[in-house]
Amino acid sequence: MKYQPRVLIVEDESAIAELIAVNLRHNGFQPTWAEDGASAQRELDAVLPDVILLDWMLPGQSGVSLARKWRGDARTKAIPILMLTARGDEPDKVAGLDAGADDYITKPFSTQELLARIRAVLRRRAPEQVSDSVTIGELTLDAGTYRVTFQGAPLKVGPTEFKLLHYLMKHAERVHSRSQLLDKVWGDHVFIEERTVDVHVKRLREALGVAATMLETVRGAGYRITAQPQVSIQA
Ligand code: CA
Repeated sequence: MKYQPRVLIVEDESAIAELIAVNLRHNGFQPTWAEDGASAQRELDAVLPDVILLDWMLPGQSGVSLARKWRGDARTKAIPILMLTARGDEPDKVAGLDAGADDYITKPFSTQELLARIRAVLRRRAPEQVSDSVTIGELTLDAGTYRVTFQGAPLKVGPTEFKLLHYLMKHAERVHSRSQLLDKVWGDHVFIEERTVDVHVKRLREALGVAATMLETVRGAGYRITAQPQVSIQA
């Protein structure tokens, strides 16, 4: 039988939750329903879903604070989160994405739209979740286990730096401009300055330690990871 992705629905309105669950079940998903943050947390502690549908307005902890919490937790940070918002809540959408949601969908939505969004976030996350290891020189990144090692020794890399490093290593030796990196690493929903890239490159270099020379600044062009770094490096 084909694998049925698990979907955790966090929604306090039972009628909406039931409707979503029925539609998901009919379309090859395994839905679970939690009516608030506390019961959602119990579900997450028991079994990790493939995607979380998270209502914005919940009793107790709001959807956005839950998204932030789960993004900050090593166990749940890779699970795609699709926020459910009310029509016209533009600032909410931005705040939801800032909190770490992958996408949002505005109520009321059609089943087809919901399924399309779920499949899209699953596709986007999938390459990072499967055992996907890349090695450049003596630097290895394993996206499946969220580990980075240099000469066999583990390095501590933050989540954004990890994504940045992953992208650079998958496209090693090539120079990437700041705007390309913003587009590929941060995604098209986020509105941030190009300087942000420099900040994360700096943090990434700190995390890389002696391997930092592999992350080169190409003056006027951008950044690259190379297996054969130049002797001196411009910060
Ligand atoms: Ca609600």
